[in-house]
Amino acid sequence: MTIHIPTVFLMIITVSGTLALSVGWVTRAKQDRELLLWTVGLFLQTLTYVLFFFRDDIPSLISVLLANIILSASYSFFLAAIGAFQERRISRKWIFAPPLLLGVIFCFLMDNISARIIVSGVIFATQSFYILLMLLDRQHKIVGRGKYLMVIGLTVTIIVLAIRVASVIFNPDAITSMLHQTPSQVLTFLGVFITLILMTNGFVMMNKERADYHFRMIAMTDRLTGIWNRVRLEDQALLELAKFERFGHPISLIMLDLDNFKQINDKFGHVTGDLILKEFCAVVQRSIRTTDILARWGGEEFAVLLPNTGFTHATSLAERIRGAVENHEFNHGLRITTSAGFSTSHLNDTWNSWLERADKALYRAKAAGRNCVKSEYFPKDEVQKGLSKTNLIQLVWRSAYETGNALIDSQHRALFENANILYQAILDNSPKSQIYSLVDSLISDVEQHFKDEESIFQMRDDTEYRHHQMLHRHLTNEIKELYQRYKDDDLRGSELSYFFMYEVISQHILIEDRKCFS
Ligand code: GH3
Ligand code: MG
Ligand code: MG
Repeated sequence: MTIHIPTVFLMIITVSGTLALSVGWVTRAKQDRELLLWTVGLFLQTLTYVLFFFRDDIPSLISVLLANIILSASYSFFLAAIGAFQERRISRKWIFAPPLLLGVIFCFLMDNISARIIVSGVIFATQSFYILLMLLDRQHKIVGRGKYLMVIGLTVTIIVLAIRVASVIFNPDAITSMLHQTPSQVLTFLGVFITLILMTNGFVMMNKERADYHFRMIAMTDRLTGIWNRVRLEDQALLELAKFERFGHPISLIMLDLDNFKQINDKFGHVTGDLILKEFCAVVQRSIRTTDILARWGGEEFAVLLPNTGFTHATSLAERIRGAVENHEFNHGLRITTSAGFSTSHLNDTWNSWLERADKALYRAKAAGRNCVKSEYFPKDEVQKGLSKTNLIQLVWRSAYETGNALIDSQHRALFENANILYQAILDNSPKSQIYSLVDSLISDVEQHFKDEESIFQMRDDTEYRHHQMLHRHLTNEIKELYQRYKDDDLRGSELSYFFMYEVISQHILIEDRKCFS
């Protein structure tokens, strides 16, 4: 079976002409510069193949020289379209040089079709390769998968051109005219046919995917501050909760509410209020880690989602945010403060139950006089839930845990042992009076230990001391509060001992303390 080359030309003319008309039809000239440039590129391709089709009927200056210059120009337009899409400047030499160079060289090769095939093949392949590099450039990342259709199309073009050039190099008489019926010719033009469809589909897809992404972002971003909005935060929080259920890494949620913000609006106006809200976000962003997520909950309330973060670290972060806001001088020399409430997730939490605890903690921070951090570790109605899914059975002391300070190490070791004893007593369903005495002694051990540690730090560095003292204060308050709930039959013993084992020992002693003694 022979494939008739002029028929393939007709196919190319039909498809590129149709694509040019359809892309042009949906293009709004002013807004869609990239689509307009692409449409021009498609028209130039159509024109090229019309000239090729009439190769035998029109002078070769037009059907060869002009047609190839136009073909190279069409690649330049495709390149410019990608540049416009990526909003980047394309060097003019990449736009103008290839068609000009091709035109000049072709003037000297009008009698040598093999040489022309090599020259045009190299120029078109270089242009295609440059477009390919632009598409894959990580600095101008393109969202979605449409770009891969273009990458496939361009790769096909480059391979086909390479085969065509190689066939002429190894057999200079392989192609005697544009319409010569050879396998390499058929392959080349079928390649062009496929490429045009792939590239144009890919480019239109890229535009669609970018628009979709843009609208998704608008739907999930707070307009004033540019940070995540509540919808997006909730989606992410549900995802984190699912991960927590599966892998057990704790997550925390901090709720922030600016103190007396209404007065700022009343005194300085809403425009200033808006500026302060934006500035507040920047201050908070600087205080959190890149993995933490700040979102606007509504009005002057914000939420920070802290993946992989338990009580101890959430305390630190909330305090760090509060301090950063307090110490920052806002626009117009204004000073504002924020109250913070946080809660750490636990098993069987729903988004609402977890959020409600953080909200309650925030309420307590407001009630306590504002500009402070409060936490809510366990909910009141969680009495029935135990530690069945956690792996903590017994704490084992290892020499690697030693800090090098004899007093601190002996206290740490004693806390390990006593926490184990408490846990065992709880598992054994020991009488409450016995558990009370174990908890009492554990609390006084912890307090003594914190006191001794603070007196060591006090002699050393000032900021380290204050930070550690703050952590101690939060832990002690929380222990006492949980203990009271336990006494009121509002919290299970296993949950109380979990706090000792996980937050006081595993997070504080094994992580925070060892940082200070390293
Ligand atoms: P509190 O310490 O109890 O939180 O006092 P507050 O004044 O901050 O709280 P209240 O809820 O009474 O007032 C919140 C104010 O936040 C009222 C509203 O004008 C202001 N606010 C909410 N959203 C925006 C906003 O987008 N821009 C500006 N400028 N102000 C806002
Ligand atoms: Mg407020
Ligand atoms: Mg408020």
